[in-house]
Amino acid sequence: MNRSSAFSYLCNACGFCCHNKVITLSPYDVIRLARAAGASTREAIDRFTIRRGSILKFYDGGACVALEGTRCGVHRGRPLACRLYPIGIEHIEAAISEKFVRLEPAEGSLGVYGVDGNVDNFLAAQGVDEYLAANARYAWLLAVFRERIGATVDLDRVEPREFWRRAVREALAESNYDANPLIDAMFDAGGIPGIDEEEIVTAHIQRLAELIRCESNAEILAAAAVMLAVSLGYSPAEVQ
Ligand code: SF4
Repeated sequence: MNRSSAFSYLCNACGFCCHNKVITLSPYDVIRLARAAGASTREAIDRFTIRRGSILKFYDGGACVALEGTRCGVHRGRPLACRLYPIGIEHIEAAISEKFVRLEPAEGSLGVYGVDGNVDNFLAAQGVDEYLAANARYAWLLAVFRERIGATVDLDRVEPREFWRRAVREALAESNYDANPLIDAMFDAGGIPGIDEEEIVTAHIQRLAELIRCESNAEILAAAAVMLAVSLGYSPAEVQ
């Protein structure tokens, strides 16, 4: 589907779609979660996420930790994937390359699919574009990573494929991962409720760029680059 494809969806707030999902979070998702919860990004990471801030947390029983009854407790700051649902997006770099897919309903869902509007109307109603715009700003950091990794890694000593394989493994590890100050800083923007969101994002991206340029450990850089790429909806290969 593209933005003009016929599509509508009526959510009946049954809460079924808020169970048993794997939802990848971007740095901007974490900022928005924090602001909706009236918390710092550090607190939001601890309350709502796993894997260093990069995945939304679900209880063992299957419910998202933000679910309150059948309602989202952070509705104003719900992540991009929750806003898009039941649509999936295949590439988020620029509107020209966007492709949308209709996702299957969650088991038992009372949501109603229709064709009373189009994809664009649906995305506008869900506030999706501000998330895509913020993610596009963070994507600029991938070029900063590439440049720094190129200047840091010694490819006479490391085999490139093995170097990137290790980076992907490290970025996507569920546990027992190495300390990585860039990944920590990526999801913890230090956002304070009340400060303008645009300012938080701008300051955060600048701080990350400085940290990347000061980092001299190629493995730390590569794992963080992969983490950022995945969190923004790219494949790990897109940073190499
Ligand atoms: S963040 Fe909100 S909308 Fe998203 S899965 Fe959790 S409860 Fe549902």
